[in-house]
Order: sequence, then C-alpha cells, then structure tokens
Amino acid sequence: MKLLGKYWGYAVAFVVVYGWFSGSLGPNILIVLSVVAFLYSLFQAPVWCCAETRNQEFCRNNAKGVLMGCWIREHRWQKLKWFVRRSAWGQLSRRLLSGFNGIAASFSAVGTLVSAAAAVITLIVKTV
Ligand SMILES: [Zn+2]
Repeated sequence: MKLLGKYWGYAVAFVVVYGWFSGSLGPNILIVLSVVAFLYSLFQAPVWCCAETRNQEFCRNNAKGVLMGCWIREHRWQKLKWFVRRSAWGQLSRRLLSGFNGIAASFSAVGTLVSAAAAVITLIVKTV
C-alpha cells in the first residue's frame, strides 16, 4: 500500500492510456484524469532532484515531481529558473532521463499533457 501511495499517479496515467485505447472513457473523464496524472508528474512523482551542486555534479537527493527540487531551497529555485530558460532544458532532461524514476515521470508528464490536449480537442470537435 505504501508503494501505491507513492506511485498512484502512474496508476492514473495507466487508466488514461487504457481509456484511449479501449474508447470506454469519455473525453471529459480523460481530461480530468490526464490533468491529475500530469500534475502528479510535476509535483508528486518520486525523482532525483537533478539540480547542479557546487562541484558541478547533479543532486541525487529525492525530490517530488519533475518540477520540484529536494529539501535544499536553492535547488528548487535553480530548477524553476531552468524551466523558464529554454536553453537549460536539454541539460535538465539529460539528467532526469539518467534514472528510471526520472524517465517514468518525464514520459508521464509529456504523455498526459498530450492526452489532455487531445481530449480537449475531441470534446470541442464533438460539441461543435
Ligand atoms: Zn537537490
């Protein structure tokens, strides 16, 4: 149960994928579930912090979500600054993608964002 408490967002993402392929979930439900799983990836999923430490290495403390840093406050600021600066994205994604949790969280963030957008488009197409 503790494992589920930490990784519940991936279960939601899995339901989203299932919903798309089976066609059993309506676009409104898919939007809600996609957004929930997306926010989970950004703020809850267990990943490495990945901020840069003083000796030019990257921080491997546990962090919650792709967007957040570890308990060190400077790291959180550093990551936020990176997200605003497009040129730093390559570096950040390389670091994130070097660990399994980072890969899972990054893919789930991108996937659920695409899914949410697709569900919104589906909804618009249906209602027009
Ligand atoms: Zn850190």
